[in-house]
Amino acid sequence: MVIHYKCPNCGDDMAFDSESGMLTCQSCGRQDQIEDFSEDLKTSVLSEDEAKEYHCENCGAALITEAETAATTCGFCGAGVVLQERLSGVLAPAKVIPFTISKEEAMQAFKKWCRNGRLTPKGFMTADRIKGITGMYVPFWLYDLKTKAKVEAVGTKVRKYTRGDYEYTETKYFDVYRDIDLSYIKVPVDASEKMDDKIMDKLEPFPYDQLKDFKTPYLAGYIAEKYNYDDKVLYPRVESKIKNFIESYIRSTISGYSSVSYNHKHINTKKVRSYYVLLPVWMVYYDYEKTEHTFAMNGQTGKVVGKPPISFQKMAAWFGGIAATSFITLKVVALIMGGGLW
Ligand SMILES: [Zn+2]
Ligand SMILES: [Zn+2]
Repeated sequence: MVIHYKCPNCGDDMAFDSESGMLTCQSCGRQDQIEDFSEDLKTSVLSEDEAKEYHCENCGAALITEAETAATTCGFCGAGVVLQERLSGVLAPAKVIPFTISKEEAMQAFKKWCRNGRLTPKGFMTADRIKGITGMYVPFWLYDLKTKAKVEAVGTKVRKYTRGDYEYTETKYFDVYRDIDLSYIKVPVDASEKMDDKIMDKLEPFPYDQLKDFKTPYLAGYIAEKYNYDDKVLYPRVESKIKNFIESYIRSTISGYSSVSYNHKHINTKKVRSYYVLLPVWMVYYDYEKTEHTFAMNGQTGKVVGKPPISFQKMAAWFGGIAATSFITLKVVALIMGGGLW
């Protein structure tokens, strides 16, 4: 079933407005509170047919969708449409963080990010590079986890002192035991096959106090995808994501020793619960030297991830006099641009 929000006043298309957080009519300005919409996606059993062709409710044109598409806009009339089958039953999101950054703000941020061409090649920003800008709700799983860690270690304290002609080294050994309970709440893992995991990880953190109960009008006028991987399949990723936090927490509890050697470290992590959420991301696709680049922005916080095209001539001028291999220079530039290397 295709859901399309038509304005009850004037009949024009309604879309989610990131500024007011309401379902808004572009023509007459009518605004509807989304929290008031009643829908029951969890229990609705709609069979999904992957090969099914969807048609725009508004103009009747065939909608171009992929198997993952859960919301899109009609390529013909521009109406925002939501595909209910792909958001129902096991595919029903529990929560959503709606966009608070508008398309215009995302475009401004992209231009600013290019630093007014300071390091980008001449003409980069003047040409029509931008292939597309898309506001996309990306599927994520959030995990609440509990970890039990039992640790046995030997710590040493070494003291050196001199008595007369002799230098003494005194080593004391301590048995160290730790029994640690840790809880992790809302650890996110991106559940879309298409999205680059590293880019998605770098867009974090998302402000989880902004999570709202999922309602389909939040998607009106945006692109949304359903998950490719369920919470069971992605569990090893969340486990490895928190591994370093657990290790560093254990280390932080064992301090004051000259050395620590671990005899036994038993770490057991269990899932308390997981929930399916949609998180807002602005994606800008642009062409440079015949390759496509991606700029991504957290649609709630404005945090930016990507690697801008860099002019080697301009870079050489900027770093004039510094003898460095191009690899080191590139790394420095990447750090300055805040993008990191990936
Ligand atoms: Zn209207
Ligand atoms: Zn249409």
